[in-house]
Amino acid sequence: MSTPVVGVLALQGDFREHLAALASVGAQVRAVRRPSELEGLSGIVIPGGESTTIDKLTRIFELREPLLALLRAGLPAYGSCAGMIMLADRVVDTAPGQQTLGGLDITVRRNAFGRQVDSFEADLDFTGVEGGPVHAVFIRAPWVEKVGAGVAVLARVSSDGQPAVAVRQGNLLATSFHPEITGDLRVHRLFAAMVTDHAEKTQANR
Ligand code: GLN
Repeated sequence: MSTPVVGVLALQGDFREHLAALASVGAQVRAVRRPSELEGLSGIVIPGGESTTIDKLTRIFELREPLLALLRAGLPAYGSCAGMIMLADRVVDTAPGQQTLGGLDITVRRNAFGRQVDSFEADLDFTGVEGGPVHAVFIRAPWVEKVGAGVAVLARVSSDGQPAVAVRQGNLLATSFHPEITGDLRVHRLFAAMVTDHAEKTQANR
């Protein structure tokens, strides 16, 4: 099987860091700015940044409809921070007119941690990631307030039932924080494995 290509939506935000992290775990990567660049992808990352801007730009660049179609068809996707918001079915505290792509049966609150802790770092136990806690950097991060029955919570900010900050539902993965900027490649490795699994299964079914 040829190496699956993983796209990173490169309209706004820290897409360069995601491209670098994915390349470091051995993925073949492609920056996506136009619909034709979605062709042949085996997975897509939606980076951190500003979800209202990413939303507007996906519409302006005519990426919204093809992205929706690919997500509905089961394309593996990983969203960090603003990307988590883009993948959420429901968002609290949206900007007027803000839309998401959806797919993840979660309710996310934007800028949830409030002003005094706009940005902070924490070490989190992350289900499915071996080798000790993941050092997580939160930057005006959302949290997950509610999850549907099919959603697995992979990490919380603390163990006492605090809001979820990493979730997975089928081929969709999302984190409130930014593993792309810490040099810890384990979350990208997890996503790359999801992409490879899915690519192998879809090839086998052909
Ligand atoms: N607060 C941003 C938003 O609403 C997300 C911040 C981030 O991606 N670091 O989209």
